[in-house]
Amino acid sequence: MAQPQMRRAIESGVPDNQQFMHPLLKKNYGNWKYHDRPRPGVLHHVAHDGDEVWTVRAGTQRQMDVHTIRLLCDIADQYAEGHVRFTIRSNIEFMVSSFAKVGPLIAELEQKGFPVGGTGNSVSMIAHTQGWLHCDIPGTDASGVVKALMDELYDEFRREQMPNRVHLSTSCCEINCGGQADIAIIIQHTKPPKINHDLVANVCERPAVVARCPVAAIRPALINGKPSLEVDEKKCICCGACYPPCPPMQINDPEHSKLAIWVGGKNSNARAKPTFMKMVAAGLPNNPPRWPEVAEVVKRILHVYKADARPWERLSDWVERIGWPRFFERTDLPFTKYLIDDWRGARVNLNASTHIRF
Ligand code: SF4
Ligand code: SF4
Repeated sequence: MAQPQMRRAIESGVPDNQQFMHPLLKKNYGNWKYHDRPRPGVLHHVAHDGDEVWTVRAGTQRQMDVHTIRLLCDIADQYAEGHVRFTIRSNIEFMVSSFAKVGPLIAELEQKGFPVGGTGNSVSMIAHTQGWLHCDIPGTDASGVVKALMDELYDEFRREQMPNRVHLSTSCCEINCGGQADIAIIIQHTKPPKINHDLVANVCERPAVVARCPVAAIRPALINGKPSLEVDEKKCICCGACYPPCPPMQINDPEHSKLAIWVGGKNSNARAKPTFMKMVAAGLPNNPPRWPEVAEVVKRILHVYKADARPWERLSDWVERIGWPRFFERTDLPFTKYLIDDWRGARVNLNASTHIRF
């Protein structure tokens, strides 16, 4: 019989996950009979041949030092069966083949400060972008906002008491690599970029920067005899897209880079089609280390959603049913004409051509 071909080593991308998988998950891959949740934070999978696996999910702070990772690995060796995996929302999961191991594993995790939960209709960990630690363009920290917010939503992570699952995300620039979420916290620049003309000629590829602006607000210009760029501030929508390819076009500002809150996005097809989120609060202060103003608005939206939505309504379903005017009434958030723009005018507003226009 032909031997299965090993995947060839590649220099980028994720490694083959089979090599690190718990043996029972590998054995029963794609062959599960059913699964259920015996309690919040625990998944129970039963295979057709009778094998059972319990998965215990715990929250982490995402950006982890080596000591924390070693601690989690020690817990995996001592209380689980030496295998862990991380979910897309930075929860860690430990797999065990006997129910007797679940209780001691949960006790150890909680005792070491890792809350067990994040399954079913809970507020799961926040998906976040890299923030100050890794990315070169953030206007705020993303993991910091996450830590501060999840400290306040600790109990909602450990319980399954929301109408449906709640996915949160944070993004530290308007590129929003945090993606769609029920509630998203995204940086919002409110002033056009300030250009350091001395550096542009040496650092920036000017045609690339000009082409990148979605509203064609950037033009080449000669400043003090040197080639540089200028911005038509009436056109600029403060998106920040010019800053990554041209760092001398600084847009991050301690005072004028704010945070905005968007709601109603989801990726899943369950019950209703995927939706794009819409902005419902703007101009919140970017106030590290605990971002209290942002936390207050997020908690307010969550609280009203929890009390008002019907069972299994995602946040977008709930807003769809009650309508945007009621959403603003019930959450007591001020409404302005700049909120919940659905980009119907994007075809004419935005630069949909690859041609450079001056
Ligand atoms: S949201 Fe923007 S700044 Fe943050 S990691 Fe993604 S691309 Fe970088
Ligand atoms: S790319 Fe965005 S921030 Fe930069 S000039 Fe154009 S609209 Fe303004």
